Amino acid sequence: MSNNTITLLPDHVANQIAAGEVVQRPASVVKELLENAIDAGATQIKLIIKDAGKSLIQVIDNGKGMNPFDARMCFERHATSKINTADDLFALTTKGFRGEALASIAAIAQVELKTKKNDDLVGQHIEIDGGKFIAQTECQCATGTTFIVKNLFFNVPARRNFLKNDQVEQKHIIDEIERVAIPHTDIHFIFQSNGNEILNLPPGNLMQRIKSLIGSYIQKELVPISEDTNFVKIRGYVSLPENAIKTRKEQYFFVNNRFVKNPFLNHAIYEAYKELITYQSHPRYFLFLEMDPKNIDINIHPTKTEVKFTDDKAVYMLLVSSIKRALGKANVGPSLDFDSEMSITLDAQSENRIITQPKVSYNQNYNPFNSNTSVSQDNTLQKANKQHWETMFEGFKNTQENTITTTDTSQQNALEELKSEAVNFIFFQLNQKYIVTTYNKNVLIVDQQRAHERIVYEHYLKTKKETKIASQQLLFPEQIELSANDFTLMKDLTDEFKILGFDFEIFGKNSIVVNGTPSDLKDFKIAETIESILETFKLNTIDTKIEKHDNLCRAIAYNTCIKYGKHLENEEMRLILEHLINCEDPLHTASGKSIMMEVDHLDIEKFFKK
Ligand code: ADP
Ligand code: MG
Repeated sequence: MSNNTITLLPDHVANQIAAGEVVQRPASVVKELLENAIDAGATQIKLIIKDAGKSLIQVIDNGKGMNPFDARMCFERHATSKINTADDLFALTTKGFRGEALASIAAIAQVELKTKKNDDLVGQHIEIDGGKFIAQTECQCATGTTFIVKNLFFNVPARRNFLKNDQVEQKHIIDEIERVAIPHTDIHFIFQSNGNEILNLPPGNLMQRIKSLIGSYIQKELVPISEDTNFVKIRGYVSLPENAIKTRKEQYFFVNNRFVKNPFLNHAIYEAYKELITYQSHPRYFLFLEMDPKNIDINIHPTKTEVKFTDDKAVYMLLVSSIKRALGKANVGPSLDFDSEMSITLDAQSENRIITQPKVSYNQNYNPFNSNTSVSQDNTLQKANKQHWETMFEGFKNTQENTITTTDTSQQNALEELKSEAVNFIFFQLNQKYIVTTYNKNVLIVDQQRAHERIVYEHYLKTKKETKIASQQLLFPEQIELSANDFTLMKDLTDEFKILGFDFEIFGKNSIVVNGTPSDLKDFKIAETIESILETFKLNTIDTKIEKHDNLCRAIAYNTCIKYGKHLENEEMRLILEHLINCEDPLHTASGKSIMMEVDHLDIEKFFKK
């Protein structure tokens, strides 16, 4: 008879495996501990972290605390005070219910708990180390609970090594704080990181909470939503279409005060904005759905951010119409039709027609960038005019549908030829999007936005400490309030920003004062642009590993380059092409998208033979 090979895993091993599902990073611990404190009825919650939570995460609450038995029990797997029977799952009002979090966290960190109930004279102190119980003693402490989680993943080096740098991990933590702080406006949240207070959110109403997290400027960009049916209540705020932004930040969906992600409902929001915003911009929203827990199933994901509804089509329709109604009340769009479902009779094209073409003036001798990159034989061109060419394109609004179908067929050697030819082409602009020209019998189609993005990118990329870009001092320094997260990032990037000509100082909590901007960047909305730059920067750090300076150059290029929808004069098109072909990689944007397409004259001939 052969030996048995199946054995039951010891508890601490099972917990360590389960922990992999619940705890991906320090932010997951933060989420679970904050949620527990909320479930315990706390009115004040303080979060203290060190090294982005890698060495310390401490949560102090003034909630109801635990008695000596519960204090020990809470670390057992499937130990929960929140449900008793499977039926309770359909009437959940608490954040937690699986009873897995504490067991998982204790399995992969050194954990201490101090807790006391109001009626108890002394508190309980428990220590657990990598899932192993160390001690339970009495202690003096205030009513409530403190969890101390040290050296996360100390016994799972593979996971520890997988963690990103502190800045990225801290961003995840701030995201989690925002997700619980926005719906729980009656709780006072305090957040300290490495000894600095990052957030202090006193109790208040929803708008006050949003303002203290995002910045008070946001108030005038939001309109309230309020819709009641017997099935669901919708509350919250959505942004005015003109305040849509280029990134998907500030999109919050809460169902019964729990942050959720639901692509279907997200789509409903975009549906409501359809024809009011361009394809590349995103509305901000802080939306709260309230409904009977029996109509929701939040149990489909271990970290509980996904949600299913028994009737999601009904929720979809209601969401679309209530947003449209709210925007209508705010007088957005000339002919919003609330009664016929889903129809906005505003013609996207009509927007184009209202815009009168501003006069574009440009300087014939103007060269926006380093003159020695110019291939032009024209000497006057080499005398760089300090005026940035953004100023030449004022007043245009992006109203184009930006579907990009360019395929890149250009070859390196063709480029060499192109460079060697005197730049003496004839240009025309197609759909305010492409520059079309001919060379060597072929047709060349250049994406204007991507081309300029590449040019600006390389221009900034070449900048080093020694060759700092000059900073143009502002007549009126501009104060910008940033989110806690952006503020941290901005501080972190101070040196890189300075090299590129941004001159700013820290000004109180979460705000900066901009004194100067790159001298070759003119007439742009400073606050908005800096925020978009930071946002692009953050997105880049999540997807890829690029060095800070490079990343910042990409972010600046992406956010300050000329856009689709801008009319270009012949001379401007010529300049773009001229600078483009002198770039190190004229064929691709920094993120690898194609910039130009070549239609071979032989293909054209072939076509007309038929
Ligand atoms: P769940 O939240 O799913 O019940 P957890 O593992 O997060 O599971 O917590 C287990 C139990 O420990 C909770 O059900 C609760 O009774 C207790 N508990 C956890 N944190 C606190 C706290 N901050 N204050 C009071 N009780 C708590
Ligand atoms: Mg919990």
